[in-house]
Amino acid sequence: MKIHNELLALREKEKQLSSLILEKLQIMEEQRLYLKLGYSSLFDYLVRGLGYSETMAYQRQSCLRLSFELPEIKEKLDIGTLTHSNISLAYKAIKNQPVNKKREILETIENKTFREAKKILAPMAPPIKVKQQFFQNKVLLKMELTHEEHKKLHQLKSLKFHKHNLESLFMNLVDQELKKYTKTDYKISKSKNPRYISVKLRNNILKKAKYQCQHKGCEETHYLQIDHIKPVRHGGKANPNNLQVLCSGHNRGKG
Ligand SMILES: [Zn+2]
Repeated sequence: MKIHNELLALREKEKQLSSLILEKLQIMEEQRLYLKLGYSSLFDYLVRGLGYSETMAYQRQSCLRLSFELPEIKEKLDIGTLTHSNISLAYKAIKNQPVNKKREILETIENKTFREAKKILAPMAPPIKVKQQFFQNKVLLKMELTHEEHKKLHQLKSLKFHKHNLESLFMNLVDQELKKYTKTDYKISKSKNPRYISVKLRNNILKKAKYQCQHKGCEETHYLQIDHIKPVRHGGKANPNNLQVLCSGHNRGKG
């Protein structure tokens, strides 16, 4: 079909533009020419100067950063074995790896769809980093988010918490979550599942245990679970006398 062939040819040209654009951007970046044009960063230049969407700008920027060390990715973009989106997906995960490791990982996502690449890279993605600095009368939290995560945060802020700034939004969410654990006046709902523990009962048990593991000598306050002292499979009931709070370690150890 003629139009198909035309599209194929155009697509081919489009791909070839990738490396050309990256090469020019490389000069922009190396000499910081965007500053002379009044843009505060390369990202700012990509968005306001060249009209890329923020996502596309972020992708170009990560490709550029990686292409300094791995110049071959330009060619791979052109032939289409790597895409901007896959490279920028990998960028965060491999940022701190040595060059040969970076190359190795990028090779595993060649010719993969975005979804497949995501799956491959998932175990390598660094967890959300939060840095804590303690001062006499305050704690400073520094948190690293992806653009996607940051977008979600702002979406929630504009939907529900427009009167908040990010700090008060954050504390509001914390308070809401905590309230769920301290509220004990829920209506009792009935469930036929023998393992079912109502929220009210759960919170009472947690409160009684002072929100920590009840295993002797353990004071764990994280990963708490409600445990049936006599297991459900042996006829143990979900009543307060048969329930205790255990940390996940001690609950697992109990078997
Ligand atoms: Zn424990």
